[in-house]
Amino acid sequence: MERPITEMSNKFKVRAYCSSRKCEYVHPDDIIRAINGESSYALALHYNESPSKPSCPKCGEAMAFYSYSVIEEPWLP
Ligand SMILES: [Zn+2]
Repeated sequence: MERPITEMSNKFKVRAYCSSRKCEYVHPDDIIRAINGESSYALALHYNESPSKPSCPKCGEAMAFYSYSVIEEPWLP
């Protein structure tokens, strides 16, 4: 039996972190909440290619963006 795909319970987000290897700054808030994995990935790419990327408040390097998802599976035992 197949499990129903409950897309609504999944949370797809874009987060930002410092692109410098010497710095571990991660933006504390989610930049974007997307409706699905494809759009969060596309938005992260879009932000990474933006010429006006925000800079790290700690070291001034450019921020980098990545998409991630939180999969909630409440039906699992
Ligand atoms: Zn930094």
